[in-house]
Amino acid sequence: MPHAEPPVAGPAAKIDGPLRIPAATREHPVWLRVGALLDGVSSSPRADAHIVYDRRSILFAGADLPPRNLIADGRSAPDLDLPGFTLLPGLIEAHAHFFLEGGELDLEKRAAYLEQSPQQLLRLAIPRLEKLARLGIAGVRDAGDKHGVGLALSRLNAGADRPLMPYVDSPGAAIHHRGRYGSFMAEPLEDFPSPAACVASRVQAGAHRIKLIPTGIINFKKGAVTASPQMTTDEMRALVSAARSLGRQTLAHASGDEGIERAIDGGVDSIEHGFFVRGDQLARMRDRNIAWVPTFAPVQKQIDHAARMGWDAEVVSHLRRILDAHAASLRTAHAIGVTIIAGSDAGSLGVAHGVDFLYELELMERAGLPPLAVLNAATGSGSQRLAFRESFGRIEPGFQSRFLLTRHSPLETVSNLRKPRSVVFDGALLESAGNLDPAGL
Ligand SMILES: [Zn+2]
Repeated sequence: MPHAEPPVAGPAAKIDGPLRIPAATREHPVWLRVGALLDGVSSSPRADAHIVYDRRSILFAGADLPPRNLIADGRSAPDLDLPGFTLLPGLIEAHAHFFLEGGELDLEKRAAYLEQSPQQLLRLAIPRLEKLARLGIAGVRDAGDKHGVGLALSRLNAGADRPLMPYVDSPGAAIHHRGRYGSFMAEPLEDFPSPAACVASRVQAGAHRIKLIPTGIINFKKGAVTASPQMTTDEMRALVSAARSLGRQTLAHASGDEGIERAIDGGVDSIEHGFFVRGDQLARMRDRNIAWVPTFAPVQKQIDHAARMGWDAEVVSHLRRILDAHAASLRTAHAIGVTIIAGSDAGSLGVAHGVDFLYELELMERAGLPPLAVLNAATGSGSQRLAFRESFGRIEPGFQSRFLLTRHSPLETVSNLRKPRSVVFDGALLESAGNLDPAGL
């Protein structure tokens, strides 16, 4: 035992019943002891750890007994003793498009969905928020839309009568070149006299960060990124510099090594997707502190639904080759110390919000990342690197009291996050059976 005092024993949780965790308040913080605590950043779990939290934030986390002044009414034992449980931070989905319904596979229905007004798209996006919170997602980085849905959701989070929802921030409309890839979520650079004026207009509209689209996407039939990059290195530098001068990070949609090269030279904060990234580019990303959000799910979904998409055996073999190379790059990135952040690209074809974030974590594990590295990519790494305006995704004093408790250790496999678990959200236990109705996601 790490402390000299005799071990304390609170009421032990019945192994199969739902947890009865009291709601934390300012006057009555909750004190738990758990068998394993994952703090979101450490490379090993902490055994037999204590956590004390109130409605707002975590007050204490560690192997020692919590300081007496944090515990109400001179209690000497935890509210709940959970030796068979693992506690981990609320998850961070770092790449989602709230204006899109990801689970829908019918291409005509997807096209019709996008014909709706921004108000209708927002109305359909709002119910996703509570579902994500109940899944244990503490924060979402929206990755852009030109309809202002992500920005509107972020304003809901900041409002006085905030619904049950994760933190959300958004870049608003992404920036691309007129006539090139991305018009469904971006507005063109050509609308402005300079890159700086374009970035300033996004910030004026409320953008928390700036989304750039320097490349197109993978041509699945050819198994390669066939279009040349749409932005020059100088344009990237100008956009990044303008964003930085206004206190905003940049995220770049980039696949294909030529476009990735420009994004790295441009000095973006994160590369999204990054298919076909080279090993030497990963090393430079590490050296320049550029994070990588690999988004396996949208490409894997093309394989999962190959028949429906009309892909023949040759296209499927391209897709598998691309994902195998992506998996090898992920292992390299982990080995050399690139900051890896989990994001599903929810909203993309077949990628449902929330549920397929869990799928993304499984795909990262399947690619060869150890479960703890996957969990850190889904929590503390984003929390540390992405400059969110609120503190979540880590188990440390001062971070929001949003976390998961499970008796099915996700260190065995992250798939265990699909099993029944308890979600504490702003100090209160949420009902969470673990099986989410995917309708509308
Ligand atoms: Zn995206």
